[in-house]
Amino acid sequence: MKMCKRCLLSEIDQDQYYANMYEYIALLPVDIKTEEKEYQRRLSLCKQCDELQNGMCRKCGCFVEVRAAKKQNYCPSEKKFW
Ligand code: SF4
Repeated sequence: MKMCKRCLLSEIDQDQYYANMYEYIALLPVDIKTEEKEYQRRLSLCKQCDELQNGMCRKCGCFVEVRAAKKQNYCPSEKKFW
């Protein structure tokens, strides 16, 4: 898989970009990765949230599938959904 550490989003093929993102999630070390059940719980809460737009959180600008994948991360909303 082609990785680019210094590319802007506008310079990366869209399909490649998403593939890289999912590979990044898949390769997170076990000690920092969110356990699958908790990961799915977080994503289901994001899916019910008004701040989710096109896979991104409008509160923080993160792709929620990436943000939720690290167990130390948290929902940036003042309501702390997760
Ligand atoms: S505010 Fe929290 S629950 Fe809502 S999309 Fe962002 S991370 Fe998900």
